[in-house]
Amino acid sequence: MNIIRSFQNKSKTIIYSIANCANPKEQKVIDACIAFARSASSFALQNLDGGNARDIAKKIYGDAFDAPRLIDAYKRIMGLIDSRLKIRRETVFVSEDGEEFKEVLSSANPQTNEIIVYDSLFSESVSNNKRLTPNAATILHEIAHLIGLKSDANFGDINSAECLQNFTLLICGIIDESELSAKNDIENLRGQNGELPNWVTQPRAPKGTHEGGQWIKEGAPTTP
Ligand SMILES: [Zn+2]
Repeated sequence: MNIIRSFQNKSKTIIYSIANCANPKEQKVIDACIAFARSASSFALQNLDGGNARDIAKKIYGDAFDAPRLIDAYKRIMGLIDSRLKIRRETVFVSEDGEEFKEVLSSANPQTNEIIVYDSLFSESVSNNKRLTPNAATILHEIAHLIGLKSDANFGDINSAECLQNFTLLICGIIDESELSAKNDIENLRGQNGELPNWVTQPRAPKGTHEGGQWIKEGAPTTP
C-alpha cells in the first residue's frame, strides 16, 4: 500500500510517498529526517562562501573540494525532496547474500529511486525528544545517492554521499570534529552511521577474510 504523506516545514509543504505501513510516530521521524535534509541543504548552500565553510571543506574534501559541484548537489537534493520522495518501510536490511544487518538505518535504490528505511531508524537514538541526532542525517546521505553520488568515502571525494553528509553535519554545527573522527572510526562505522555503503558500487571484502563478502568502507583494511 502506498500512502501519500505531507507535512509543513516552515512555509514549505513537503510531500512524499511511503510504501508499506509506517505508524504515525514513525511518519513523524521520517518527516523530521526529510525536513532536516532540506533545511540543512538550504543552510549549507547559503553558507558555502563563509570562512568556516572553507575550513570544513578542507577537512572533508581536501584538494577535491569543488564548490560548483557541491552547490549543484545541494540544489538537486532539494529538488528531489520537492518532487515527492519515495520512501519504503522494511523491517531489516538484507544483503544480496541473504545476511541481515539489523544496525542499518536506511538504504537507497537508484533503480527504483526509493529510499528504504528500517526498524533501526525508529529507535530512540535517532529522535530523542525531537532533537535530531547525527543518525537522522542518514536520509540526506541516501538522497545524495539518488542524485548520483556513488561513493561512500570519508574523505577527499566530491562524489561521496558520506562526505556530503559529514560536510553538512559540520557546517550546520550538528557535530564537531571530534565526533566526526569517532563517527568515521572503522570499528564504529556500522553503529555510528547505521547505513551500509551504497550496495550498488561498494567494494566488498574478499571471500575468505573474516569479513568476507561484507560491504566495507573504501580503503578499509581487508586482511583478517
Ligand atoms: Zn552510502
